[in-house]
Amino acid sequence: MKKFLFNRKLKLTTLLISLVSASVIFTTLILLFSSYQSEKESLTNTYLSLNYSKADKLSCSVDSVFRSMKMSLEETANFIAEQDDMTDEDIQEQLELLRNNSRYFNSLSWIDETGLVRNIAPLSVGLKGETIKSGVTKEVLDLKSPALTAPYTAPTGRLIVLMSQPLYDGENNYKGIIGGAVYLQERNILNEILGNDIVDNSGSYYYVVGPGGKLLFHPESTRIGETVTANPVIRKLMQGESGMERVTNTKGIPMLAAYSMIPETGWGVVQQTPVSYVEKLLSNHIQQLTLYILPPFFILLVISIYLARKLAEPFINLAEHVNQLASGQVVSVPIIQSHWNREADILSKSAAIAIEAVQKNNYKLIHAATTDPLTELPNRRKLNETMESWRSEGIVFSIIAFDIDRFKLVNDTYGHQEGDKVLKYLADTIQSMVRKTDLCFRYGGEEFVLLLPHTTSLEAYNIAEKIRITLEITSSPVGKPITISLGISEYPLHSSSLDELFRLADKALYQSKLEGRNRTTIWS
Ligand code: GH3
Ligand code: MG
Ligand code: MG
Repeated sequence: MKKFLFNRKLKLTTLLISLVSASVIFTTLILLFSSYQSEKESLTNTYLSLNYSKADKLSCSVDSVFRSMKMSLEETANFIAEQDDMTDEDIQEQLELLRNNSRYFNSLSWIDETGLVRNIAPLSVGLKGETIKSGVTKEVLDLKSPALTAPYTAPTGRLIVLMSQPLYDGENNYKGIIGGAVYLQERNILNEILGNDIVDNSGSYYYVVGPGGKLLFHPESTRIGETVTANPVIRKLMQGESGMERVTNTKGIPMLAAYSMIPETGWGVVQQTPVSYVEKLLSNHIQQLTLYILPPFFILLVISIYLARKLAEPFINLAEHVNQLASGQVVSVPIIQSHWNREADILSKSAAIAIEAVQKNNYKLIHAATTDPLTELPNRRKLNETMESWRSEGIVFSIIAFDIDRFKLVNDTYGHQEGDKVLKYLADTIQSMVRKTDLCFRYGGEEFVLLLPHTTSLEAYNIAEKIRITLEITSSPVGKPITISLGISEYPLHSSSLDELFRLADKALYQSKLEGRNRTTIWS
């Protein structure tokens, strides 16, 4: 469970890289989002203003054309009124002249006060000689003053608007009207002003709306004549307002619309751009921006990953070393390398020093725990360790256990301090006599143990005797020789149990004591 939790902890490198990546990604997203927002606002405003200026220009043009139309109709009416002796043919000629010269009207007519169509140009319209008794034309006739009708369907079946000018003779008698008709669905001067390509490649288009919300010009010619009241822009135009706003058109498509009133006619021009076009521009802009941002973004990311790894490196190293130290392994002191990060640098150096100090202390403690301070021989603890390791390696060895004879007497006679000197003397003498591979231990008090690797008990006996005899004839620090009694056992000949083996050597030593001391006994 603990290990599982440990494994789930975050690596420093992962953490650093994630942090850097997250901040770079978030910054980029915020940048893209804010750029999107400001670009959207600016594009929307730009298209609204563009549309407004176009709508306004169109409305001015249409307005001035209608004023010109009105003036030319007025002049023609005045001219006809001033000439007393004009025949029907002369008037016909005048109407044809006006129609062909200005191309303002699709047809021109003189309808007298009774409703009789006296003249019509071109004659091909075919109403000449007919009497109009009702309808919009009749209403205009009865008005006896200049008028511009709303679009209506004429007796010929065409959708038209009619501009009229009253006609009076010299005695101020009403003689009917001179009427100019504009065929909304056919070619005329308005079409020419408004143009044919009313839908441009951005999908922007305009339309003209007449009184009551009736469509006078529209890219879809079939919609001309249709009355639209649901559109808020048209409602505002009908209230005489001009302006710009985002609207949803009758087909449910969101539009950036600008609208402008035509004062002369009471009509309105609406110029609009689909919001989807602006969105397309925006998405292109964002794509472009993303392309610009991506390369530096990746470079930044790679640099960050590189730096994060470099930054984490000393900490990971140290963590590994400390981990080894904690698990009791001998740690190679990390080479003190300077690091560009100040904290990493300080930590690496301090940790190296600390690890070195800890290891030195460890060595000292281990040495102290396994060494006898008086004789500087390894102690009983080390003895057990050594035997265990030889056994595991399958080494044949012999144990010589020995004990100073009547040592109590030495202490009693010369004092404890002199006894200590004897112990030290004994240790040094034996160390100097044995082979390099043989190990001498102080087992306790005045009892010692020799471990002889690759040595049989008989070979050990010879060594033991050599030591014993040397001591017997050598003067000790108290001025006379000391003697020792020895006992030998062999591994694994006498026992494969180390405890038992040791006990057997001790028994053999006891045997030597019993038999009079200053002798060597092999366990048998
Ligand atoms: P035996 O021949 O039977 O071994 O007689 P012994 O006097 O040597 O035997 P005993 O075990 O009775 O006495 C051992 C003495 O060793 C007792 C103790 O005071 C002394 N001794 C043990 N450790 C030390 C030490 O570190 N220094 C000194 N000076 N004496 C020690
Ligand atoms: Mg003893
Ligand atoms: Mg003794």
